[in-house]
Amino acid sequence: MGEETVVVECRDCEFRESFTNLRRARVALDDHESTGHDVDWQIDRVAAGVERAGADAGICGMPDCENPDTPLLDRQPSDDES
Ligand SMILES: [Zn+2]
Repeated sequence: MGEETVVVECRDCEFRESFTNLRRARVALDDHESTGHDVDWQIDRVAAGVERAGADAGICGMPDCENPDTPLLDRQPSDDES
């Protein structure tokens, strides 16, 4: 259904490539890591900015994607208080 893009990004240089195939992305990642650089990767399903912001906050950036484990949404009253 949705397009998935795997973005391989290096923290130590300007290396940045996107792939639509996870295996190819891993090959590129491993290849670049062999230079000793610290390479990160992420899967982008929507706008990259939203995805990154969501990852940083620990929640999904999409409005219809709720993460009950996030502390940011821990506002529900607990029934555990005896
Ligand atoms: Zn690099």
